[in-house]
Amino acid sequence: MKIAIVGGGFTGLAAGIDLVDAGNEVTIFESEKKLGGLGIGFRDPDWDWSLERYYHHIFANDRAAIKMATKVGLPPFFTVPRTNSLIGGIEKQLDSPLSLLAFSDISLLSRLHMGAGLLLMKLIPNGVFLEGSSVVDALPLWVGKEGYEKIWKPLLTAKFGPYLPVVNLAWFWARVYKRTQALGYFEGGYQALADKMEEYIKSRGGEIKLGTKVAAVKQDRGGGWRVNDEKFGHLLITTPAPLVDKLLGTGKVSWPKINYLWAQTLILELEQSLMNGYWLNILDKDFPFMVVVEHTNFVDKKHYGDKTIVYLGNYLPGDDKRLKMTGDQLMSLYLPFLTKINPAFNKKWIKKSWSFDAPFTQPVFPTNYSKQIPPMKTDLPGLVVANMSMVYPWDRGTNYAIESGQKAASFLKNG
Ligand SMILES: Cc1cc2nc3c(=O)[nH]c(=O)nc-3n(C[C@H](O)[C@H](O)[C@H](O)COP(=O)(O)OP(=O)(O)OC[C@H]3O[C@@H](n4cnc5c(N)ncnc54)[C@H](O)[C@@H]3O)c2cc1C
Repeated sequence: MKIAIVGGGFTGLAAGIDLVDAGNEVTIFESEKKLGGLGIGFRDPDWDWSLERYYHHIFANDRAAIKMATKVGLPPFFTVPRTNSLIGGIEKQLDSPLSLLAFSDISLLSRLHMGAGLLLMKLIPNGVFLEGSSVVDALPLWVGKEGYEKIWKPLLTAKFGPYLPVVNLAWFWARVYKRTQALGYFEGGYQALADKMEEYIKSRGGEIKLGTKVAAVKQDRGGGWRVNDEKFGHLLITTPAPLVDKLLGTGKVSWPKINYLWAQTLILELEQSLMNGYWLNILDKDFPFMVVVEHTNFVDKKHYGDKTIVYLGNYLPGDDKRLKMTGDQLMSLYLPFLTKINPAFNKKWIKKSWSFDAPFTQPVFPTNYSKQIPPMKTDLPGLVVANMSMVYPWDRGTNYAIESGQKAASFLKNG
């Protein structure tokens, strides 16, 4: 079977691998010059490894990703880096039952309440039934009012902004249920994993067209699909839902009407370490970024020319003014806040910087979302769609992209 795949992120790559394994003729169209989608990396000439535009790790229970990476010869390695929170200007560990017990910014009773609520969530094997409630209404009951106000509300508000009132509790459950303290990464970065998957596909006769944006897909009169005027028997589209509509025409797939957030990062290469942990959730008010990720407190800095790598990250609605700023403007906005994290910070520590943004990176799941997800196998003959709007209740992730790609491939293999 001759199959076209639009999108060379981890969904498209995983589908490509399963489809070439089953003996199909596969062509992947990718508009970027490299594969990897939101996990795409870049490499400074002084580094041995690529770095993701957007911070990435896998969890110890991300089975599909671990299996796939092992299959293509790049099994992940795991470490247990620290997740901290900035509260009252102090970086405090908050990533385990013990660290919660020691977190004296909320009362002991509130800590016990939150610990019990989170433990209960961990014990629920499938939390989709929680999707009828919104996080805003129900989470204070689970984690206690004080804990919600001081910890979760600032975090969720920073992430979802104006969309927070619609976010459902099943999404939150999935975040808690899935999280492991051990986090995994790949030698060479996620780009190395995407490159290994590319090699695998090509070695089995698949074709990968990089830097090739698909401008149009059309049903062919004689059956099958035309992609950029090339004819295929079957088609898999893995782009975000709004871009599927652009390619096919609105209404061909009945996507739920949901909001999406952009992701934006400012990446700094520093002479010195900024903080103690790998991950720093900002609970203090008025910070212009929601998270700081010191990648080199997770992955050895020897792979990055012995420099410290720090991400300052945000999810933003499309009309946010930070999306119109240049990297230098973001830097001016952000720098004063780095001294709030580490008073010794000096802008002379900054050796290089990069900024990235991308649309449609975080779908916002409203209540009862499971009933609105369209099937992967569409009503249009030979057309399958798979993207992160269909990964639910999980919070996206390369593991689920790989699972979805494999599921999409099974529909294509079975006609
Ligand atoms: C800030 C941030 C942090 C994240 N952290 C993690 C993490 O720690 N761990 C984790 O596992 N996941 C993480 N993710 C999520 C993960 O990156 C995604 O879930 C996953 O990469 C999605 O893969 P995908 O293939 O479904 O979609 P995408 O990666 O979006 O791939 C779609 C591809 O289609 C291409 N494309 C679009 N339009 C066209 C067109 N017209 N023609 C040709 N090609 C086209 C795009 O260039 C892209 O390569 C994070 C995401 C973000 C934004």
